Amino acid sequence: MTVDQIRLSIFLGVLGAMLVLESLIPRHATVDSKPRRLAINFSLTGINVLLIRGLLGGAAVGTAHFAGQHGWGLLNYLQWPAAVEMAAGIIFLDLMIYLQHVVVHMIPFFWRFHRVHHSDLDLDVSTGFRFHPVEILGSMIYKMGVIAAIGPSVLTVVVFEAVLSSMALFTHSNIKLPLGLDRALRWLFVTPDMHRVHHSVEVDETNSNYGFNLSLWDRFLGTYNADARKPQPEIVIGLSQYRAPEQVSLVKLVMMPLHRTGQAPPAP
Ligand SMILES: [Zn+2]
Ligand SMILES: [Zn+2]
Repeated sequence: MTVDQIRLSIFLGVLGAMLVLESLIPRHATVDSKPRRLAINFSLTGINVLLIRGLLGGAAVGTAHFAGQHGWGLLNYLQWPAAVEMAAGIIFLDLMIYLQHVVVHMIPFFWRFHRVHHSDLDLDVSTGFRFHPVEILGSMIYKMGVIAAIGPSVLTVVVFEAVLSSMALFTHSNIKLPLGLDRALRWLFVTPDMHRVHHSVEVDETNSNYGFNLSLWDRFLGTYNADARKPQPEIVIGLSQYRAPEQVSLVKLVMMPLHRTGQAPPAP
């Protein structure tokens, strides 16, 4: 099995598991048609996969390989034991994408693209991959820069990407975890209830819980929000200016960054 096949198997396995759980133990009622949203979100995913493959094929792993061969990056310089290096690399990469997420909320130009992710009227496993192609491209270039600077091993990057994509599916899924389990997981990890607050239509709630994998960054850096003002099943999801399904069709999502009107750039 190649690395790509392992990756695809993990993705499809987690995706399937979340889709089943969403139908068995949903957390939040839906306002938009699920088949319609799945079609839009997976179309965007398809465009993004083709774009990354076409323009930056094997980008993150390739950068790690290149950095390793040329001795680039802090971790290649330090020569720590492999397990320690992997743990440090994964934790640091997670911090860097947390910071990237804060920045795309704070800077209006980046927010134009990131609001495509937030414009989904419902939250489910498919939202985890709903990003504007330009944001995906920008994220990959940023990640390549970070990898070149810290020099994690190829294996670290492969594991990080698999964890990140699995966690994106999990944290966006519309599943109801037992409250005790949610609270226990939250000490270390982002949970679906925690990330749902980030997708609330309320601007101050949108500007909280930026984490992707570890909940520590939100806790340490003051952006943690234990719960929305409304109870979880009643949180209004999306953005205040895009409330109708017609406003968030596939074509309109691709064109969305061109719209000047919209939610004022969120306060830092
Ligand atoms: Zn966001
Ligand atoms: Zn999200």
